[in-house]
Amino acid sequence: MNDQTLIADLRAQLAAQQAAHLYRRRRIQDAPAQPHGSSDGRSVLSFCSNDYLGLANHPDVIAALQHGAARWGVGSGAAHLVNGHTAAHHALEEALAEFTGQPRVLLFSTGYMANLGVITALTGRGDTLFQDRLNHASLLDGAQLSRATLRRYPHCNTNELNQLIAKDPPQLIATDGVFSMDGDLAPLPALMQIARDAGAWLLIDDAHGFGVLGRGGRGSLHHFGLSADETTVVMGTLGKAFGTFGAFVAGAEEVIETLIQRARSYIFTTAMPPALAEATRVSLRLAEREDWRREQLQTLIARFRHGAAQLDLPLANSFTPIQPLLVGTAELALAWSQQLETVGILVSAIRPPTVPAGTARLRITLSAAHSETDVDRLLTALAAIQLPPD
Ligand SMILES: *Cc1c(COP(=O)(O)O)cnc(C)c1O
Repeated sequence: MNDQTLIADLRAQLAAQQAAHLYRRRRIQDAPAQPHGSSDGRSVLSFCSNDYLGLANHPDVIAALQHGAARWGVGSGAAHLVNGHTAAHHALEEALAEFTGQPRVLLFSTGYMANLGVITALTGRGDTLFQDRLNHASLLDGAQLSRATLRRYPHCNTNELNQLIAKDPPQLIATDGVFSMDGDLAPLPALMQIARDAGAWLLIDDAHGFGVLGRGGRGSLHHFGLSADETTVVMGTLGKAFGTFGAFVAGAEEVIETLIQRARSYIFTTAMPPALAEATRVSLRLAEREDWRREQLQTLIARFRHGAAQLDLPLANSFTPIQPLLVGTAELALAWSQQLETVGILVSAIRPPTVPAGTARLRITLSAAHSETDVDRLLTALAAIQLPPD
């Protein structure tokens, strides 16, 4: 094969993706992450961000990042195990351990890497691991990398999981706490019991639970009134409700030590900038103390769901800030998203392979930084959508 063929192959694949309405494009934002911004040069109202508490652009968090950079410089300069692990990182780990109520916490550079790290450190060739069919891509990719046998169970179906487990006992069960594209919660009380009975680790990816659910935003486990036992490992991201960047894993002392020794996505990568750890400590404190942010979210969620139900829109069964409208085909999801964009409202169309075929959707996300007027504007625009004739 010569170079010409290689490029021609790519071109054909890209064209096929476009024909299937699955082509992805980036918009160029020219304002910070906040509901009222500007994209591709025009002013927009956005419902796409995971900045659920409105902290990404908070003046105290910005100031902490600036002071952090003045104190520590910008780059950490090395991996944690070389000499990139600063007192700023360490203080954030301790603050997160206290926040989660877990014995220890380890920072990772991203949530994607944290999931790869936990799964590859706790499972290996010859093991079986079970995952919810709708888990985040990073959990599924972690399973591939681990070389363990990956088995997927139907979404939130613990009966089916129990039957599968009886035939094939797992080393680990992994689930999103709040499902990222659906907004619903995993049945954590049942999953904890199943994992305990099976003698398996339970890994909860709470990227969308921390900051939003439970007292002080302590996440999905707290929402259910549960506390982690020694074999529960919880992953949280810092780039969503906490408004900064990075991720953490909370668990037993032995789990965290094992990650330090074995998690390649921890060992072989540069530590996050220490200034970011300083900024995150401030946003963590705001997230924990400012309950009005969670209350505002609940008000907006109720308002949106009430209005959407009156319009007979295809709402999902979610009471979190992730409020998908299940429109069906990729083409329809794009058409809805494009019509909203013509009136200056940004909502992402989520298509396969991010979600199963036939379940393309508009992924509407609400933030404490939205107002009730913003939600009403969205509802008005949704009511006015004209679908193209078949
Ligand atoms: C965003 C997300 C991740 C990845 O976190 P990053 O820090 O963005 O890499 C992992 N799991 C879930 C469920 C997520 O939504």
